[in-house]
Amino acid sequence: MLARLLQLQGKCPVVLERDQHAEERPLGGSLDMHGETGQYAMERAGLREEFIAAARPEDQGDRLYDPGGVLLFDRNDSTDDRPEIDRSALRRILLNSLTPRTVRWGQRITRIAPEKGAFMVGGSGWQEQFDVVIGADGAWSCVRPLLSVAVPRYEGVTLVELGFDVDRHPRVGELTGNGKMFAVGDNRALITQRNGYGHIRGYAGVRLAESLAREWGSWPGENVRQALQNAFDGWAPELRDVIETGEFIGVRPLYALPVGHSWESQAGLTLLGDAAHLMSPFSGEGVNLALADAVDLADALTSTDGWSSVGRYERIMYARAAVAAEGAAQGLKSVFSSTGVEHVLEHYRARVHE
Ligand SMILES: Cc1cc2nc3c(=O)[nH]c(=O)nc-3n(C[C@H](O)[C@H](O)[C@H](O)COP(=O)(O)OP(=O)(O)OC[C@H]3O[C@@H](n4cnc5c(N)ncnc54)[C@H](O)[C@@H]3O)c2cc1C
Repeated sequence: MLARLLQLQGKCPVVLERDQHAEERPLGGSLDMHGETGQYAMERAGLREEFIAAARPEDQGDRLYDPGGVLLFDRNDSTDDRPEIDRSALRRILLNSLTPRTVRWGQRITRIAPEKGAFMVGGSGWQEQFDVVIGADGAWSCVRPLLSVAVPRYEGVTLVELGFDVDRHPRVGELTGNGKMFAVGDNRALITQRNGYGHIRGYAGVRLAESLAREWGSWPGENVRQALQNAFDGWAPELRDVIETGEFIGVRPLYALPVGHSWESQAGLTLLGDAAHLMSPFSGEGVNLALADAVDLADALTSTDGWSSVGRYERIMYARAAVAAEGAAQGLKSVFSSTGVEHVLEHYRARVHE
């Protein structure tokens, strides 16, 4: 998004990306795009029509079950202004909007060093000098250590990601409805979420020590499934079906930077997105924030005020991210508690009355 916005202003950004190509890895579940951040960014990038063509306003429903499979909440309102879009569709729209060869695939950055008022950026067998470096490189950013000593901390919860094809798993489709379903019980949660093209993405979440989460990450999928079956013992058969039948995708321990993470502004270097404010997904804001950061940073980098405008971007970004990060930390704590189902129900009911 930042590269697109800079190109619209006549700049020539380069995107260095470690993936070899756009389809190298599964990108994760569907996203709801919020009006003032994600959707606003698409509008500013001149990509509103492409977004509307790919978005799924019909998939904004919410369901909540207890561990016995009792449906406690069911809301299906496609008039909400937070349409869903697949990550792959969003990424494709953004990639197609860039001038050819803006993205240099397969360029994993392993070192960045300040050099004569610029930055020498390098990887295996290559290095290149840049005037400005923006760390948009996610949770384990290699740019962040040049600005901040903060490191992401494990949040105590691990999600196991599962995939379903609705044609082959109609029961999971029925359970999910149009949108997202949560089943929440004593420090555990099952989440399924409708994606495009007849796919459903699922997450089984448990509280787990960090060392065990790492171990799970090294196990074959079937061993992880067995561990989940034990963790969800006693849950309703149609909920256990999610764990038993889902295609294993990966183990995702949740990490976060400290709420309110910030640094002393440094000319030529800044961060956006998860690199700046990694948080658990329980505020549903990560991608939306990253896109909003891109808009504000593009404005700052193309203003005539020099680097001080980037300092202003940083302050706006810190404030916006801190609110979402606090929400994400609270959301994770309430869902993965002994009274998680009551908290989620309260949250959904409050949204109906907003
Ligand atoms: C399970 C889960 C569910 C989520 N659900 C939602 C949701 O519903 N809504 C929402 O808004 N957010 C959600 N999020 C959060 C969201 O995924 C992130 O906030 C978002 O992807 C951050 O975007 P980013 O561009 O900052 O970082 P990333 O998406 O992590 O992108 C970083 C990029 O940098 C590249 N890179 C990294 N290191 C290097 C390197 N050394 N050299 C070169 N390239 C590098 C990576 O390959 C990647 O392409 C969820 C997160 C998780 C874990």
